[in-house]
Amino acid sequence: MLINGKAAGACGGECFDVKNPATGELLEQVPRGTEDDIALAVEAAVSAFEGWASTSPQQRGMVFYRAAGVVRQRKEELATLLTQEQGKPLAEARNEIEGFAHVLEYYCGLAGSLRGDFIPVPGNGYAFTVKKPLGVCAAIIPWNMPALIMSWKIAPALISGNTFVLKPASSTPLTNLTLASVLNEAGLPAGVLNVITGSGETAGESLVRNPHVKKISFTGESGTGIRVAELAASGMKRVTLELGGSDPMIVCDDANLESAVAGAIRGRFYNCGQTCTAVKRLYVFESVAEEFISKLKAGVRNLKVGNGLDNNTDMGPLNNSHQMEYIKELVAEVKEKSEGRIITGGKIPSFKGSDKGYFFEPTLVSDVPEDSRLLKEEVFGPVLPIVKVKNLDEAIEEANRSSYGLGASVWTKDLDRARMGCEQLNAGIIWVNQHFKVAPEVPFGGIKGSGFGRENGPDVLSEYLETRTIMLKT
Ligand code: NDP
Repeated sequence: MLINGKAAGACGGECFDVKNPATGELLEQVPRGTEDDIALAVEAAVSAFEGWASTSPQQRGMVFYRAAGVVRQRKEELATLLTQEQGKPLAEARNEIEGFAHVLEYYCGLAGSLRGDFIPVPGNGYAFTVKKPLGVCAAIIPWNMPALIMSWKIAPALISGNTFVLKPASSTPLTNLTLASVLNEAGLPAGVLNVITGSGETAGESLVRNPHVKKISFTGESGTGIRVAELAASGMKRVTLELGGSDPMIVCDDANLESAVAGAIRGRFYNCGQTCTAVKRLYVFESVAEEFISKLKAGVRNLKVGNGLDNNTDMGPLNNSHQMEYIKELVAEVKEKSEGRIITGGKIPSFKGSDKGYFFEPTLVSDVPEDSRLLKEEVFGPVLPIVKVKNLDEAIEEANRSSYGLGASVWTKDLDRARMGCEQLNAGIIWVNQHFKVAPEVPFGGIKGSGFGRENGPDVLSEYLETRTIMLKT
């Protein structure tokens, strides 16, 4: 844990194991944070608030700028640590670490745009607004993209003058702790950013309950998000919920099939399928389905599954046993109920050492019926259900049937079809001829069961600032 700028043990003295999901090896033991630890971390953030809030946004931005430089210099070491605890291939881990640095640089650039408004009012007066930080903000984050999601939460909060307590996922706290130390070494005053390791039920819930915490940003499972929102509501706290998605990808008959195949492979199997904006349902026009599926199958069969630290690995293991059991159960159900046809994958791979980690083959399932769990749930793993559709109307109707609404994509060369997809797909982010791309410059977030609130883009600052209105009579 990191409290008030220093590494700390748990008040109860207990620790838990962080293991490599590719090998089962113990990486490190970290303290199991208690309610008392949360109280200490929040106290540190409360004490640091006045000093940090009174620095200029430009000074805060310079800390980010220096930290981003160090993160880039230490990229290999940080990426290796991320692969070891999360499982993703090194190339993906390097992307994520660069993404972390890029987010810090983006908010450093935004520092100068923190400002209020001048508002002329009728009569002999005028009004203006000033923006104030909220105080102590907090985030609870998952294990799928721990570095990137950390940056999306801490950067807008800190640049706005808030102080912070972060609760990482229990399977991936190590990269988060190291990145927080980098920020401290780059000049973040003690207590501005604190990291508490520990279970969701204990550390997570006491963080949400703590009366000094003014805002919670959560990413994770829907049920946990609802619990967090309920606890936050009783304390009148602001909440942002990013609860995942079941993104549809629609391939029309005029699409560039090569590029759609590449997009589907990257969109589904990046990070072993454990990404909120992954392609989780694929709708392809009947007229091109055979050709598309055959190209897709060939591409998927070429993916090399293995330890993320091996240079030629395309897809690493799932992150934890819960994930592995879930994916095995879903695929077993497809087989038992004959809900679709497994056209490749569907089992544990058999390379040397595969029994030590949470490996599962990249899997394609075609002819999936409407009521299958593969289409209704957020399939957070390397299994892609494929559905054939007659036309775009049917594809959009099927795509919108989900309770989620995070991302969606339509692949076509026809501008009218692209426009129809953009207007009629119910999602927070709609891509045309691509899927998956996110950037700190653009708002990110979902509608429907995917949560509420937005991350990224200049508007996110309002989530971490309050507006004071001042009216002057002259
Ligand atoms: P959770 O929602 O349980 O975990 C996310 C974070 O919330 C973790 O830091 C966790 O801590 C914490 N947490 C757990 N319970 C509570 C609680 N009662 N109060 C406060 N915080 C809590 O997700 P899982 O890791 O169990 O993943 C399950 C499923 O969630 C996945 O299969 C996937 O479908 C979805 N998911 C979606 C993500 C996305 O980005 N869309 C990301 C991760 C998961 P701890 O790690 O200690 O349990």
